Amino acid sequence: MFKKIQYKLLVSYILVWTSILVVFGIAVKFFFTRSLSQQLTEKLTSLGKTASASAELKQGHLQVDSDIQDRELLAHAQSLQWFDTQNHLIAQQGKILSNQSLQNQELPNIKNIILPIFNNDNKQIIGYVRIAQSLEEFDETLRKLDLGLGGGIVIALILSSLGGIYLIHQAIEPIENSFQKLKQFTADASHELRSPLMVIKSNVAVALKYPEEMRVSDRQKFQAIASATQQMIQLIEDLLLLARCSKNQNHTWQLIDLNSLFYNLIEILRIKADKKQIYLDIETEENLFLLGDSTQITRLLRNLIDNALQYTSLGGKIKIKANLVNQSILVQVEDTGIGIAPENLEQIFERFWQVDVARSYHSGGSGLGLAIAQSIAKEHNGIITVKSELGVGSCFTVCLDAQLKTNRKYI
Ligand code: ADP
Repeated sequence: MFKKIQYKLLVSYILVWTSILVVFGIAVKFFFTRSLSQQLTEKLTSLGKTASASAELKQGHLQVDSDIQDRELLAHAQSLQWFDTQNHLIAQQGKILSNQSLQNQELPNIKNIILPIFNNDNKQIIGYVRIAQSLEEFDETLRKLDLGLGGGIVIALILSSLGGIYLIHQAIEPIENSFQKLKQFTADASHELRSPLMVIKSNVAVALKYPEEMRVSDRQKFQAIASATQQMIQLIEDLLLLARCSKNQNHTWQLIDLNSLFYNLIEILRIKADKKQIYLDIETEENLFLLGDSTQITRLLRNLIDNALQYTSLGGKIKIKANLVNQSILVQVEDTGIGIAPENLEQIFERFWQVDVARSYHSGGSGLGLAIAQSIAKEHNGIITVKSELGVGSCFTVCLDAQLKTNRKYI
């Protein structure tokens, strides 16, 4: 149980960290790209201003006398192009990045800025200068950033997962210890309560041995005490079984012949089924063997069949099927009973949980039957699943490891 909680906590912890780091990475990338792009625009604008200052109108024609070094432009993969007001190319300098006309402003992989050139005297536009720079360097910087961020995020995730494993272990350990102590307490208390209850039970049995010598009212009181004591003994035995089941003790398992176990069990339960006129349909494959504790396996199946009998009304049907599927034994207990609402399906295996407390209590149920069945199944490396529909019926399936009978060690 704690392993599952630890796993769930770790997955949630990693998911939270992944979300935080991914959001952080996206934010860093966004601000870095924006700031880099702004810097580039400012750089090109300032270059453009210098370039536009080197152009002037002479006898109605735009003339360019640039003192910007070609070397500088080539080093940064930049180009300058001067156009007159009719968009004719007048001059160009640097690494020529485009032969496109001035109207074509969007150039692939090139950052492009167009600035007007003003006449110094009347401040009228006398031409345009296009400043372009290849985005290769820019993209390369972003690629390096992606790589750095991606690597950083992966390393941070690995480190935080390791930290998470350590922290979750530290946090769960004391809870697990107190849970073990609580279980030990339940086992001890149940064990200690058994003896006084047995004393009450045997004394009541002695008192009820000669009921004719008693007043009717006294007899009824003793019978009530006997019934309540029996219920308490059953509850205590159940709690003890649950505490022992999850203790992972050294098992003394035997080879169980499921068919003969079914035979004995059905013999007992058929009386109850007949009383309720419930039809028991049993369909089991031959040679079904498994390794386990036969008392516990009997208890598991009995709890499921008991429930089916209890929650199926007069004249209903219970089908019990057992067969071998891929080295596993599948036992199905299907009834045409009241069914379980989908929202209750998860809780029915919890200890002391009952759909209808009044009804279950009335029939002697304590809400431990399925918890015990599940504990026993887990103890035998098996699982129990359930499918149910309100008013239609339920089907409980137990999956257990099958054992080949030829394994002489256990015969
Ligand atoms: P209980 O002692 O109350 O039967 P269980 O642990 O065996 O306790 O079952 C828990 C609850 O699951 C029951 O209260 C009942 O409402 C529901 N339940 C179990 N088996 C069936 C079934 N075959 N059909 C309908 N409801 C069931």
